[in-house]
Amino acid sequence: MTTTTRDVLDRVDRFPRVDIIHRPTPFRKLERLSARLGGPEIYVKRDDLTGLAFGGNKSRKLEFIIADVLEKKADVIITWAGLQSNWCMQTAAAARTFGLKPILMLFKPADQPATADGNVLLDVLLDADIRFLETEKGRIVKPGQAMDILDEAGRDVRGQGHTPYLVPVGGSLVRGDMDKPLGAISYVAAFAEILDGMRGLNLEPDYVVHATGSGGTQAGLVIGAKALAPGCRVLGISVSDPKGPFADDVLEIARATDEALGLGLEVMADDVTVFDEYLGQGYGAVDKAVAETIRLVFQTEGIVLDPVYTAKAMIGLKDLIRTGFFKPADKVVFVHTGGTPALFPHRNEIFNFLVKKG
Ligand SMILES: *Cc1c(COP(=O)(O)O)cnc(C)c1O
Repeated sequence: MTTTTRDVLDRVDRFPRVDIIHRPTPFRKLERLSARLGGPEIYVKRDDLTGLAFGGNKSRKLEFIIADVLEKKADVIITWAGLQSNWCMQTAAAARTFGLKPILMLFKPADQPATADGNVLLDVLLDADIRFLETEKGRIVKPGQAMDILDEAGRDVRGQGHTPYLVPVGGSLVRGDMDKPLGAISYVAAFAEILDGMRGLNLEPDYVVHATGSGGTQAGLVIGAKALAPGCRVLGISVSDPKGPFADDVLEIARATDEALGLGLEVMADDVTVFDEYLGQGYGAVDKAVAETIRLVFQTEGIVLDPVYTAKAMIGLKDLIRTGFFKPADKVVFVHTGGTPALFPHRNEIFNFLVKKG
């Protein structure tokens, strides 16, 4: 069943939203990169230019999440993620703008120093209440574990006479005080923007490619595509998790999104495509391919990718082109989801791969 963009956006508009991003974000063809890679036509959706705190996909989600926090009369927002998290920094920035206090649980391996760089520097400037927690090296915290820690912090906050709002990592899964998939809902609207961008050029997208981490962005795009452009497939390039369990999360969020919007789409497992072949050495690990890909896109298009998410997604796109996944006439939209502050903490690895050679 295809519905109209107007109908889908009306359904999205039933959810309260605060106004913190520049909308629509820019959209254009990547002429030189398309020519260089010699494959399909590549377009870019610049969600790195949402405007809040260096921009990124999380600020789109936070328009709905902050509105929910305000509606629930909370005054403290508590969330968690890895040390250099874009999500945590953007949450702190959005929270401060609305007079809310941010508490950030930042997980890091014991041997990773918490230097005031990249997003951590911005967290400090935002005067976020930062709590560093240690994980075993190479291990990602289990979301359930993290939510227990958030619960405990929430009890303390209540004890001090405040009202906490607990948000799951990335604002993706329906957990904590977020009882609707608000992050994904924002990406249904983003898909409509992408479609507008393409249709403004008299084109239809065949694929949308993006970095996927906690699943909300992909779930929203999948619902948008299923409702509005069934011929378009969303390809999520995982930056952290193996595809099996991760695709289950995306499916769970996508179904919750379909239900919240009342679209009746019957979302199935095969609506969700996740590639986990481009993780490299794992979440946040910068290798030579990452450094070279950032250089390539910067030099051809003047666009800076980040090393943790968008460079890995672009590595995936490049490889799918190389292996003949796309037809030459395909139109592929790459979503730049932001994350650029995380470039700088990785300066030494990038320098070593590109300049020192070997
Ligand atoms: C969080 C993030 C993603 C992934 O989005 P999810 O909704 O968590 O899957 C992609 N790119 C950047 C830069 C991010 O910060």
